[in-house]
Amino acid sequence: MNAKHKFLVPFAWGLAALILTACSSTEESATTNEVPSPQPEEPSAKASISLNPSYFVKENLAKEITQESCTLSDGTKSSCYVITIKPDPQEHQMGPWCPTNEKDGKEKGGIWFRSGEVYDVDGAFIAGLADFYSDSAWKLVNDDGSIRVTNTQEAFEAAAKPDVDPRYNNYCVEGRPEWVTINAKTYVIPVTPVYQTTPTDLGRDGIGVAFNGVNFDPPAPLNAILAAHTIAPLDDNGGHINPHTGYHYHAATGQTKEIAQTDNHAPMIGYALDGFAIYAQLDKDQQEPTGLDDSRGHSDSTRGYHYHAGAPGSNQIIQSFRGLTASLGTETSNDSKAPGPDNRPPRRGPDFAAAAQKLGVSESQLREALGSPENSPPQPGQRPPKPDLAAAAQKLGVTEQQLAEALGRPPNPPGR
Ligand SMILES: [Zn+2]
Ligand SMILES: [Zn+2]
Repeated sequence: MNAKHKFLVPFAWGLAALILTACSSTEESATTNEVPSPQPEEPSAKASISLNPSYFVKENLAKEITQESCTLSDGTKSSCYVITIKPDPQEHQMGPWCPTNEKDGKEKGGIWFRSGEVYDVDGAFIAGLADFYSDSAWKLVNDDGSIRVTNTQEAFEAAAKPDVDPRYNNYCVEGRPEWVTINAKTYVIPVTPVYQTTPTDLGRDGIGVAFNGVNFDPPAPLNAILAAHTIAPLDDNGGHINPHTGYHYHAATGQTKEIAQTDNHAPMIGYALDGFAIYAQLDKDQQEPTGLDDSRGHSDSTRGYHYHAGAPGSNQIIQSFRGLTASLGTETSNDSKAPGPDNRPPRRGPDFAAAAQKLGVSESQLREALGSPENSPPQPGQRPPKPDLAAAAQKLGVTEQQLAEALGRPPNPPGR
């Protein structure tokens, strides 16, 4: 059986090719105290520990973890773990998310966040959203005290997308596990992480994986959610469901498998797609480490470079990648796919398969968003109608620039 790797597809948006080679042999033990600045030291490749496959919850593995050759996001060949795992939190239940009545207590709902703070979503919270956001247009509670919740699969799918169906404005949006079937997801993670001095944008692909196979996702798209006067609460475990990736985490709340550390350091909670480990936000004294970089990472002599999850209310588990991500490179089309930073537009129309993979969506979703049906590919020498990139990007939940880059064309093609 040949696994599909559509969920995990590292992307190589055009990036300055200033890559640190992995051959640094700095003596890690020779710690120097001569660096007076508070800036974190550049971690050496040697200081990075490798992924430990045994940390993943064995019952959730759809097949044995293998080591295969892969292509890093800078085009170099490397070796990667291929982890095919069912996202199935054994440690906790999924939900609840939305209370159904204004009198419901906090045990009937999940959590929501604003400006770094976490709030329990109980009936009173839902009823108070107009005050909470100082916007009288919020009205999720009906006159009889019931709360408008997406309680059918159709309603959920119409509401849980960037261009929320207007019928589901002013809804509490939740998806139920039985509405989304994800048998397993495949993660391709470098065996030896490769540190970069320049951070890489997370994109929309997912940023890593907890040991139970559930993915850590980039920030929830709050602007789109709130603009429709909807909220999409997380459960108390920091997760909720969307139609494409199923159950996923936007916050690390300490409910998933942890690997305790022998020192005072925070426990490990999973791996980022670049192979660097993600640790909880707080150490054993409930302190957040100081001196984290822009990606929310730092380096120490025990763990090498690693990340610390953001506060549960921050809508941010990590902020960007400091390492190269990877792909197996077996699904990209074979035409004009030279490795390296090649931003030339393709000669014969966009490579939808490759672009969809970069964006973390299916090819049919991409074609649908662009209004480019699968059965009429552009003919050689004939230009397809110019798609509305802005509208398509919004449908796909990506930025116009990301979409344009994935398609290999400038956002506003001149003279078209
Ligand atoms: Zn989400
Ligand atoms: Zn640390």
